[in-house]
Amino acid sequence: MKPALSSPTSSRTARIALRSMAALWMLFLSAACSGGNRLADHVFIVSFDGGKPAVIAESSMPTLNKLAGEGAVTGSAQTIFPSKTLPSHTSMFTGLGPAKHRVLWNSYDPARGIIQSPTVFTLARKFDPRISTALFAGKIKFRHLWQENSLDVFDFNGQRSNTPVARSEEIENATSPAKKVAAAAAAYIVEKKPQLCGIHFPDPDTAGHKFGWGSAEQKAAFASSDEALGVLLEALQKAGIADKSVLILSADHGGHGRTHGENIPDDMTIPWVAWGKSVKAGTTLTRPVNTTDTTATALWLLGVPIPAQLDGRPVYEAFSVGTTAISR
Ligand SMILES: [Zn+2]
Repeated sequence: MKPALSSPTSSRTARIALRSMAALWMLFLSAACSGGNRLADHVFIVSFDGGKPAVIAESSMPTLNKLAGEGAVTGSAQTIFPSKTLPSHTSMFTGLGPAKHRVLWNSYDPARGIIQSPTVFTLARKFDPRISTALFAGKIKFRHLWQENSLDVFDFNGQRSNTPVARSEEIENATSPAKKVAAAAAAYIVEKKPQLCGIHFPDPDTAGHKFGWGSAEQKAAFASSDEALGVLLEALQKAGIADKSVLILSADHGGHGRTHGENIPDDMTIPWVAWGKSVKAGTTLTRPVNTTDTTATALWLLGVPIPAQLDGRPVYEAFSVGTTAISR
């Protein structure tokens, strides 16, 4: 007797099974490509550099307060250690802790090249090359996050060329104020309606280093950054995408005295607010939120599969949609 495995009946069954599997896979792919799993059409990640929740609470920030009231919020999210601008933003925009992304330096240093781990922009683009992306940064060091083919636009101080920028004291210290960053981002949003967009407001950190965390000057910088946030909101309205968007508002670190970078609550505690489509309005988040969760949440909202190595996980609790749609 012939072994069962080679019998014509069995191979026919196997062929049918394979065809069914292929059909299912095609169905899955077409659902994924048509945005079948997408929960928001646009995700904007806004970072207030040095945004310590305790100082934000004492500053005049009507727009942020309005969005927090209409959104899901925690004032006790955590950043990574070292609580410094470039390592922390790298975690925010990769979903990885520093042990994995290895960006431990905190200045613009072209010799170090571009980070090796994929950013949220790269992951989104790899999944669907049609996803439009942009990053508007107030500090030149963000260029370390500019991976090939990951961004339609990287904007620092109006410069958008990807020819190398030489390192210099001037360019390292030349921050682009929140209002300038917001104006550039707003014009772009109205024109291009990016699906995944990062926006960085440096002012609170600049004032914190000069005058101290919690100083009157820093509170003024928060107020000015809040006006910049208002400009972004207006742009979403003008572009007609406000009801299809989610905004994630957060920070890279807090601060104490005139510095930050330590593993203490003053430096490690950051705000995390989600506002927009499918967000559970008026929610105070009780689960721990880490800055790495920002990338995981953005990917989940855009229907992009979340890589297993990510340290962050989506903040499902902030949204009214099924929390088990994509889990790992
Ligand atoms: Zn910073």
